[in-house]
Amino acid sequence: MALLKCRECGGQVSSFAESCPHCGYSKERAEYLRRIAEEREKSRQREIELEKLEASGELDRRRKAADEQRRALYTDILMDSFHCNPGHIS
Ligand SMILES: [Zn+2]
Repeated sequence: MALLKCRECGGQVSSFAESCPHCGYSKERAEYLRRIAEEREKSRQREIELEKLEASGELDRRRKAADEQRRALYTDILMDSFHCNPGHIS
């Protein structure tokens, strides 16, 4: 059995141990924490991206474009239903 040095606290850990008996450090936990940090960083980036869009007025522009698209779609559907049932509008 070999003794390894814990990456986190520097204490001695058996190479067979799942986690450090001194600080609880383990590869799984380190991996878990790394993923959380990664997710946090991603959502921070999205936040920054959104703020940039908001500041440049781009967000407003996109919202308006989406609204217009929706309105156009509703109009199409409405017109279609009129064309299918011409008797209803006379
Ligand atoms: Zn440790």
